[in-house]
Amino acid sequence: MKIPKIQRRYCPFCKKHTEHEVTKVSVSKKKRSLAEGQRRFKRALKGYGSFPRPNPKGRSKPTKKVDLRYRCKECGKQHIIGKGFRVKRFEFAK
Ligand SMILES: [Zn+2]
Repeated sequence: MKIPKIQRRYCPFCKKHTEHEVTKVSVSKKKRSLAEGQRRFKRALKGYGSFPRPNPKGRSKPTKKVDLRYRCKECGKQHIIGKGFRVKRFEFAK
C-alpha cells in the first residue's frame, strides 16, 4: 500500500483543512516501560519461577499493523485518524 507523505486533511486544533505530514510510528518507540502492566510483568520475571505467560500457540500473523501519525504543518501538532490497519507492504509515495 502506498500513501502520500503530505496530505491535505482536517486539523482538529486549527479546525480547518491544512497540509499534514504523515509519519509511521515504529513499534520500539511506542513501548511504555513505566506502565503498570510492564512494572507488574518485570516484577513477575524477577526471582525464581518460569515465564509468567502461557506459551503462545498457533501461527504468527502474515501482516503487521501500521500506525500513522499526522502532523499539521501550521500548528505543528500531531493527531491520529482511526486505529492502525493491517497491510503486507507499506511505503510512502512521493
Ligand atoms: Zn493545525
